[in-house]
Amino acid sequence: MILPIVGYGSPILRKQCEPITADYPNLKQLIADMYETMYAADGVGLAAPQVDLPIRIAVIGFRPYDEATDTYGEEEERHTLINPEILEYKGEKKFFNEGCLSIPEIHEDVLRPERIVLRYLDEDFQEHTEEIDGMFARVAQHEIDHLDGKVFTDRLSAIRKGLIRRRLNDVMTGKVHVKYKMKGARKK
Ligand code: ZN
Repeated sequence: MILPIVGYGSPILRKQCEPITADYPNLKQLIADMYETMYAADGVGLAAPQVDLPIRIAVIGFRPYDEATDTYGEEEERHTLINPEILEYKGEKKFFNEGCLSIPEIHEDVLRPERIVLRYLDEDFQEHTEEIDGMFARVAQHEIDHLDGKVFTDRLSAIRKGLIRRRLNDVMTGKVHVKYKMKGARKK
């Protein structure tokens, strides 16, 4: 089932989300719904607060980019992160152009470490600790920010924030054109 996506300005996007246990009700269905919602909106990541749940789950899905051949792989790479934690930041900080399904029509370069050590549970509650980089590390950091009540525009310089203030305001008042269903944005 495709779930409505919560828009910038909704209080749930500012909540510190809570870890879950394996007996969380209908967890498999929720995860399936989150993937379906993300793909329907052409996203590469989606965090539970974006579907109005203050819990620590995120889904990630993208086709990996191969720098050597300048092509995208056929196989979709998927990662379900439950109660994820960044144990260590590594490597250089790099800019990458980010967007967010909760903040449509805004894309900005965000500076983040290129490599992290990530600990998380998968959908079978198996624990993984991995050193990751590339797209996975980028999207994981964006989604874990959501679980901590942050959005990518918080990480912009004061100047960039000032330049997009009006557009953020449009999102808050529901003046956005998206093909997916949004909720929580205040209507004018
Ligand atoms: Zn986002």
